[in-house]
Amino acid sequence: MVNQDQGGNLFGKWEIHKDTWCISNRWSNFMYLLIGEEKALLIDSGTGTGNLKEFVKTITDKPVMVACTHGHYDHTGGNYDFGEAWMHRESEYTAVNAFKNQGDSFYNSKEFPEVKINYLEDGDVIDLGGRRVKVLHIPAHHEGSIAFIDENTRSLFTGDELESGQVLLFVRRENLPYKEAAAVHKKNMERLKSLRSEYDYIWPGHNGLPLLPDRYLDDFIKLDEMVINGTAEESDNTGGYGWMCDMSVGPFAKAGHGVRASYGVASLVYVKD
Ligand SMILES: [Zn+2]
Repeated sequence: MVNQDQGGNLFGKWEIHKDTWCISNRWSNFMYLLIGEEKALLIDSGTGTGNLKEFVKTITDKPVMVACTHGHYDHTGGNYDFGEAWMHRESEYTAVNAFKNQGDSFYNSKEFPEVKINYLEDGDVIDLGGRRVKVLHIPAHHEGSIAFIDENTRSLFTGDELESGQVLLFVRRENLPYKEAAAVHKKNMERLKSLRSEYDYIWPGHNGLPLLPDRYLDDFIKLDEMVINGTAEESDNTGGYGWMCDMSVGPFAKAGHGVRASYGVASLVYVKD
């Protein structure tokens, strides 16, 4: 294995479909490499530890287009290895400033060298050569969130907008009141559900994968609804998302008092005040 980072952590890789790889970064971030006849698409670039470009070369020698599901540091950190990345225009600010608007010293201390940023929009189709990938704008967790549907493997990639740990609704560049954020999330989940005939698997940016589409979409739609109408069961347990098990430390320390609402397999964390 190559590319040990300073913390002794490694990238990992495995082929989830033909010409489709999952790359793990510290086993907490998942990136995806879709290889077409002409080029490859790397969905997200991790935290910037190690050299992702070198690692990707162990899988393919085709030109690589980097596309970020959204602008958070743990999805854009490796863009600098490639020098160029694609994302929704609403992702650009946080992609080059991390959690700056929340004033966190740890992430503000990271260096953000120049990266050429190109925009992707809802409805765009990325042609990798014999392989088409559709772009959907689904902003709730982040203003710039985009999902990808790969026609060849009938896979949906959702970044942080749908995953098995929890969806955070207080980490946008400009946060929405939590019920509004849940309403936007619900609308996005309903849209993904309306496209259900186009995919069989959901591949998120963190935690367990792949997800069973029907169960997750239905439970998230129901949970969003319950948050909006005030009937969701809430707890103070914001733990369960990696090392950030206490909102009084880390990048979310200034976010406010977080609560978790859960229903079935769906879980949301938001700030009520
Ligand atoms: Zn995120």
